[in-house]
Amino acid sequence: MPQDRLLPNAALRTLFEAVEEVMGSNGTRAVLKAGGLERFINNYPPNNTDLGVTFADYGATEQAVEDFYGTRGARAILTRIGRATFQYTLKEQPAILGLASIALKALPMGMRMKLVLERVTKAANEDVNQPAYLREEQDAYYFVVEECPCRWRPPHTSPACFVTVGVLQEAMAWATGKNFRIEEVACISNGAAACVYRIPKQPIE
Ligand SMILES: [Zn+2]
Repeated sequence: MPQDRLLPNAALRTLFEAVEEVMGSNGTRAVLKAGGLERFINNYPPNNTDLGVTFADYGATEQAVEDFYGTRGARAILTRIGRATFQYTLKEQPAILGLASIALKALPMGMRMKLVLERVTKAANEDVNQPAYLREEQDAYYFVVEECPCRWRPPHTSPACFVTVGVLQEAMAWATGKNFRIEEVACISNGAAACVYRIPKQPIE
């Protein structure tokens, strides 16, 4: 295991809230127990950006959900948890994204996508202690994350970060009102140097 990396309290808190929304309070308790995270049962991290928890805590939560449903079965659940995580982050830490949807409405779809992806990237770097950058190609954006909780999870035979896929899906749906087929095309848990997410510029028909 690599040396642990600090994470803001609110990041883990919003993940727990999202797990609870999708799996209920008993399911969440089971996940926290299985993940060795008993100390957080009825004791979620506070809603602030102090670096009070770790990437390993976040990764252990994701892994426990995966183990609960099985690797294949967990994909849809983890993606839903990611979508809910984005909504809780908007509600609990609106300053992190710093975006009013009303200001976005005046812009064309491509601009809205780019603006929100840039904000997500800035928040990753400045608030989440997660080095990341955005790359643009003709047909897609690539969100490249150089430190990810999956570094503290067991190795995977295919990309594992479905929570982040869900976060990006929800962010794009919030920004544009449309759904996009977002994929993690490289993953640290799968041996890559970074987790890379492809966000196509064209929505699903
Ligand atoms: Zn990954």
